[in-house]
Amino acid sequence: MSAQASDLSATARREALKEVYAEARGCLRCPELAAARKTVVFGSGNADADLMFVGEAPGATEDEQGVPFVGRAGKLLDSLLMEIGQQRATVFVANVLKCHPPGNRDPLPVEISNCQDYLLRQVELIQPTVICTLGNFSTKLLRGDPTGISRLHGQPEILRLGHRVVRLYPIYHPAAALYTPRMLQTLREDFARLPDLLAMGPPPQPREDPQDPPGSLDEPAEAPAAASQAPAAEPPEGDGASDQLGLF
Ligand code: URA
Repeated sequence: MSAQASDLSATARREALKEVYAEARGCLRCPELAAARKTVVFGSGNADADLMFVGEAPGATEDEQGVPFVGRAGKLLDSLLMEIGQQRATVFVANVLKCHPPGNRDPLPVEISNCQDYLLRQVELIQPTVICTLGNFSTKLLRGDPTGISRLHGQPEILRLGHRVVRLYPIYHPAAALYTPRMLQTLREDFARLPDLLAMGPPPQPREDPQDPPGSLDEPAEAPAAASQAPAAEPPEGDGASDQLGLF
């Protein structure tokens, strides 16, 4: 991602996001995931959203439909959004992994490492003010630190991701709260602070030196130092699936 992403119009950033999506759709970096997936679940919502959510990985329902958080956890996310006056069309929802791990297993460190570039480019192009990490995987990845969600939830922090400085807000994953009433209550309370966080607006952005190399994510806590060598990706399919992406 170039340092100029912040200078692009919302329309240009949306078009660039569609290009990243086209690239991701042909991704073969994780052979097991690429062979097993039905769709690449890139993300959906408002390409110019102030509020972005990052979950873990698509489940089986998301893999079928190509859209993140459409299963039970997604329904809970929808109702929590409604409680703070937001909806899917006003936010952007993505995951650490864009492919469904077979059997719903946890993402592997190498898969997280392979996929993190897509997430970083999403952040650069969407330019959210607040990134709400849902659960451990996204929180550890974006903070570059192994501290768990139970210690961090509900505590916003300012974080640089690539060229962007954002307000990171870790909260419990909705799937974890589905069966634990106390966790659901905590999730609801943490969610209720989101409007105030959004109202603070974006944190000050760094002045970019054109000579600077593009920024990158800090070393992810759960990922190895180097991504595995990616085999050549398939040529991206046409742009038809940008509707499925649900960009507004
Ligand atoms: N859980 C996630 O983390 N992401 C999804 O898209 C669905 C369930």
